Amino acid sequence: MDFLKELGLEGVLKGTYAGEWIGGEDRDKLVSYNPTTGEPIGTVLQTNEEDYELVVKRAQEAWKKWRMTPAPVRGLVIRDLADELRKHKEALGRLVSLEMGKILQEGLGEVQEMIDICDFAVGLSRQLYGKTMPSERPEHRIMEQWHPLGVIGIVTAFNFPVAVWSWNAAIAAVCGDVMIWKPSSKTPLCAIAVQNIVNKVAKRHDCEGVFNLIIGKGSTVGERMLQDKRVPLISFTGSVAMGKHVAEVVGRRLGRTILELGGNNAVVVMEDADIDMAVNSIFFGAIGTSGQRCTSTRRVIVHESVKDKVVEKLIAKYNKIKIGDPLDEKTTMGPLVDEQAIIAYERAIEEVKKAGGKILYEGGRIEGMKGHFVKPTIAEVKNDFKIVQEETFAPLLYIITFKDFDEAIEIHNNVPQGLSSSIFTQNFHYAEKFISPAGSDCGMANINLGTSGAEIGGAFGGEKETGGGRESGSDAWKLYMRRLTSAINYGKGFILAQGIKFGD
Ligand code: NAD
Repeated sequence: MDFLKELGLEGVLKGTYAGEWIGGEDRDKLVSYNPTTGEPIGTVLQTNEEDYELVVKRAQEAWKKWRMTPAPVRGLVIRDLADELRKHKEALGRLVSLEMGKILQEGLGEVQEMIDICDFAVGLSRQLYGKTMPSERPEHRIMEQWHPLGVIGIVTAFNFPVAVWSWNAAIAAVCGDVMIWKPSSKTPLCAIAVQNIVNKVAKRHDCEGVFNLIIGKGSTVGERMLQDKRVPLISFTGSVAMGKHVAEVVGRRLGRTILELGGNNAVVVMEDADIDMAVNSIFFGAIGTSGQRCTSTRRVIVHESVKDKVVEKLIAKYNKIKIGDPLDEKTTMGPLVDEQAIIAYERAIEEVKKAGGKILYEGGRIEGMKGHFVKPTIAEVKNDFKIVQEETFAPLLYIITFKDFDEAIEIHNNVPQGLSSSIFTQNFHYAEKFISPAGSDCGMANINLGTSGAEIGGAFGGEKETGGGRESGSDAWKLYMRRLTSAINYGKGFILAQGIKFGD
């Protein structure tokens, strides 16, 4: 496969970057498997404790220079990164499909998202605005500046093996941070390919220590980084269970976290909705990335009067799904990431049946196919089933009916997670109420479009057990910086605030 060569992925690969690729042949090996065939596609040498120490040391050294590099100059590095990504978009998109299993269109979309966030970050590099405010004292003023934090850790999930890094890295870099990326052990090749791309740019700009990489099981180097006081911020994307652990470990040392955890996203379909528009969005939301997006549509909360129509149209679409090799342009649904994911999916279907759910579209493991292929499932359920309250990371779609708008909102918000949500309606009152304080309790609430497929311009993230973090656009950059407030006396007098008199 030529694209592997283009991305520098030949032979046994070093998995640790500390301004240069480091680590000897004796390091533990990590094999990356193709979810489509179950066969190995590459071997990576993992980061050990000694390597980790060198990564942190080099990153700290690099930060001394990077923090004093003017932000617009840092932006030029990210501008060139966007150009380099444009050159390799096709190859990297293919690699994402190969290693993670999402269809090529989505693999390419993921790389486009990287390019988009780089473009955003270049503009941001000339902003990073601080405020000034009037002082109560004569000939004084008060101002705020935003300064970089230092060496930050980025831990990413398998399902967006390249884009999530860029949401963090492009912004953190213009903010003046240097970073250590720990990708998912299920997608190490994607990480090495991205590192190879960023290295070309960093070399041209003489800033090789800014973007670093460690690869290893989360419980080894990942855990080491969580505990490391030299890493003031951990941006973590992954499951709720892991996120709670990250919050505890980093919180114990009073470090900062950005937590981007699981969702349980719902689409509300009102009686007056444009049904075709709703069904198209639900279909993409449930089937896209084989139901392995944090924003995947898990629940359809549909008015009882239109339920049959919605289900009928959905099933018609499900009947046409083409399951197979994600690199084949005709495929609409690729495999799940691994055998564990299939087991969790099968368990969830069993739980639905046991709780009294009604299967409307029978799915499950596809026997006799190499790789980790499943058929999607649609089930009519009650929102309070235990399994419905959890995130099942697979194409399992729940149908829940309601009678009036207030009941729909109550059902909608009655889950532990709070990432993405949407409503389909032509009614101004319903639409506005859904995004009002009395509406969706998620971090993202859309009107007449689905739960997944966000653009980079807005802040991305969710509430409750989704962790409260925000990444990507808007003012999410502030989380990667520290705020410095300065009061300045440009007069000659000694004047205390609050009118306090002290001394003679
Ligand atoms: P996961 O929690 O299993 O793993 C996430 C990352 O944590 C991986 O890199 C893993 O190696 C690492 N890790 C494991 N143990 C660790 C430890 N002790 N210390 C440090 N790191 C450790 O999640 P996953 O299966 O890769 O991804 C799927 C989950 O991620 C889903 O719940 C999905 O909703 C969520 N997700 C959320 C968002 C978001 O933005 N909200 C985006 C993508 C995925």
